Amino acid sequence: MKIAILSRGPRLYSTRRLVEAAKARGHETKVIDTLRCYMNMATAKPSINYRGNPLDDFDAVIPRIGASITFYGAAVVRQFEMMGVYSVNESVAISRSRDKLRSMQLLARRDIGLPVTGFAHTADDIPDLINMVGGAPLVVKLLEGTQGVGVVLCETRKAAESVIEAFFGIDVNIMVQEYIAEAGGADVRCFVIGDRVVAAMRRQAQPGEFRSNLHRGGSASVARISPAERRTAVAAARAMGLNVAGIDLIRSNHGPLVLEVNSSPGLEGIEEASGIDVASLVVEFIERNARRSRTRTRGSG
Ligand code: ADP
Repeated sequence: MKIAILSRGPRLYSTRRLVEAAKARGHETKVIDTLRCYMNMATAKPSINYRGNPLDDFDAVIPRIGASITFYGAAVVRQFEMMGVYSVNESVAISRSRDKLRSMQLLARRDIGLPVTGFAHTADDIPDLINMVGGAPLVVKLLEGTQGVGVVLCETRKAAESVIEAFFGIDVNIMVQEYIAEAGGADVRCFVIGDRVVAAMRRQAQPGEFRSNLHRGGSASVARISPAERRTAVAAARAMGLNVAGIDLIRSNHGPLVLEVNSSPGLEGIEEASGIDVASLVVEFIERNARRSRTRTRGSG
């Protein structure tokens, strides 16, 4: 097969591993800078050009779309879908999972466990919003944040009010969430491919920190997950329509709760922690599933 990897960084670990794994399995690959794809929307025959040449002979694409380019990246993936090219994650699913509120609403609708979470727009509603999630301590999150930036633990009601007011004052969207103290600064990343969790790692925050993101100094180790955690992770990926997903779970004393769904999950941490060749499993999944015009949401997204 000829597989395109949509990625802004050919030297990034995840990109390199996918190239390596696809080559090892006998496929031809090309890393394509998503932002250098340009498209002709007007014709009956959708096309994509890249550095002056048409991209017209791929069987499959693996989108690795960074959060900062979701809008353009989803359009590029959609154009591939319109051309009949199989995408391991569909454009609609990518856009859906990048909208944190929409994701949580979709997960809630499927009865998937979530931390109690509130969302408001106006300062007058802050006191009741805080009540809604059970009071302090609570976590305030910027909707546009990634890698733990803009995730703030407010230990008292007063602190929560000030933080929320400050965010409203600069006109950014936030959500307010119950603090899962019993997780002890740890969460579990489940790497889902199709209907299986193929690898899992536990991330532990450094002492004095509650955010376990590796970018915030968290450390990773292989995780043994329970059947309930496995079911929750697979159900979350399915609810979002993602074939490949990183599902972040937090262990609460009322079971696993989904913190986040990632449509371009990194391979470095999970492969190192688990020792599993996740890249090859992604490629195998493509081999089993890629068919021309297989995309269910072709052009409708
Ligand atoms: P980001 O998308 O920026 O990584 P997350 O919502 O995943 O933001 O939060 C970052 C980290 O903070 C999580 O990995 C987890 O360790 C911790 N965390 C997030 N929400 C909660 C919560 N409600 N209770 C306890 N810890 C949390």
